[in-house]
Amino acid sequence: MTTPTRNPRPRKPSRPKGQGQWALGHREPLNKNEQVKKDDDGLNVRARVENIYAHAGFDAIDPADLRGRLRWWGLYTQRKPGIDGGKTALLEPEDLDDRYFMLRIRIDGGQLSVRQLRVVAALAKEYGRDLADVTDRQNVQLHWIRIEDVPDIWKRLEEVGLHTQEACGDCPRVILGSPVAGVSADEVLDATGIIDEITARYVGDKAYSNLPRKFKSAISWLPDIPYECNDISFLGAVHPEHGPGYDLWVGGGLSTNPMLAQRLGTWISPAEVANVWAGVVGIFRDYGYRRLRTRARLKYLLKDWGVEKFRDILQDDYLGYKLADLDAPPLPDKLVDHVGAHRQADGKYYLGTALVAGRLTGTHLDRLADIAQKYGSDRIRTTPMQKLLLLDVPEERVEEAKADLRELGLHADPSPWRRSTMACTGIEFCKLAIVNTKDRAAELVAELEKRVPELDVPISVHVNGCPNACARTQTADIGLKGQLVTVDGKQAEGFQVHLGGGHGLDAGLGRKLRAHKVAATDLADYVEKVTRRYLDQRNEGETFAHW
Ligand code: SF4
Repeated sequence: MTTPTRNPRPRKPSRPKGQGQWALGHREPLNKNEQVKKDDDGLNVRARVENIYAHAGFDAIDPADLRGRLRWWGLYTQRKPGIDGGKTALLEPEDLDDRYFMLRIRIDGGQLSVRQLRVVAALAKEYGRDLADVTDRQNVQLHWIRIEDVPDIWKRLEEVGLHTQEACGDCPRVILGSPVAGVSADEVLDATGIIDEITARYVGDKAYSNLPRKFKSAISWLPDIPYECNDISFLGAVHPEHGPGYDLWVGGGLSTNPMLAQRLGTWISPAEVANVWAGVVGIFRDYGYRRLRTRARLKYLLKDWGVEKFRDILQDDYLGYKLADLDAPPLPDKLVDHVGAHRQADGKYYLGTALVAGRLTGTHLDRLADIAQKYGSDRIRTTPMQKLLLLDVPEERVEEAKADLRELGLHADPSPWRRSTMACTGIEFCKLAIVNTKDRAAELVAELEKRVPELDVPISVHVNGCPNACARTQTADIGLKGQLVTVDGKQAEGFQVHLGGGHGLDAGLGRKLRAHKVAATDLADYVEKVTRRYLDQRNEGETFAHW
């Protein structure tokens, strides 16, 4: 018997699927998010909040606004309390939605005055159950916000020059900047004016408010911003002929498919930065992959194009001139966190303080404003490492100011554990979270301060509630990614461990250790064990990332 053979019909060669790139003519929305953005610009939702939703209440909110456009004004629904991490991926978004919102206040460059701090504190106390989280992107987040209260919050923020516009959503988010811009003795160029120029020109501009996904920016002379993790970063660099300017990095992003930013090999003068920034955002808007949300970040486009093509298109199609070349400047040793007392260029001091995992209250912020006033300071700074700085303290009052701040839980001489532990929002409020992060981080710091007080170098521990890596899992010495693990045959909160990530000379993505899944209850044991092994085995001067 012969085996029958099928004669397959000849197939037409399949057409390559479009990736939703506008510049290639793919203007039709390819998914729900793109449809929502096409139906109405996210920025337009503000008028509906003020005219309809704040009066008619939560139930009147159009679902496309509720789970989409409100983000353009900094609003996300909170996670409904009491839903455990096992249900995160199983439930529909509407089942996870609480009737309260998280509101992200955008603080470009992390710069706050006493007056601004007082308003944020008052809003947290009046409307947000006295919670105020300092994020690792220099924002402050309020929780428990009702839609009815949002117009008053916007009004009071805007009266003091703060706002929530494009704090979330598929648009240019807050611009990270040096917390000591304009005061540091080590700084050559102060980027504050450039950050102000970009936000004034482009934030709220509808030419840039419908991007494939979020767009993260950072500009600083000093290595105090995580420049490898942003869609675009300008890091201070001196050109041998042109002098001080910026080295341009593009295409960084962590989350589930992490990639570090790459240099385009160009020197950007301070006067060019805003236009170059707009050119790169323009490339992302026009060529970014809108078909799949999971491929919609700039990093995927850069990976496919390569640095050379990216630079050519930026120069030829968006700027119309060639940028100056720049050989790779020396990389910084590590990220600077500014913790401690440091002398400013004008002889006064700034105090960098560590809180635990960014968690504060409005009451704390109010008290911080009191302390600032007591020492004649009108400048408070947030940092990308979830720290708070008080600037302009007279030298003779440094110790007294440190003691006042310590009473508030803001330590200028913290333990290495307190100094280097960060945490994202986690299951308390985030609908994507699988595990608790803020409480875990606080417990971990307290426990490790007791168990390994002899630690003499900071080891960064970043606690994340899910694979999205908002607290930069992969660039920590010990990166923790929340997931469910099995303990005694039952599902429990736990973490996958990534070891040995870093910035600067230590730059690299931490190794994901498949075997290293740690139950949340065993976290302190695990970190203690790894740390002791490092302390025993390290060679002189060897960092955790290189060990
Ligand atoms: Fe939420 Fe996950 Fe981001 Fe944490 S890492 S804030 S859990 S999305």
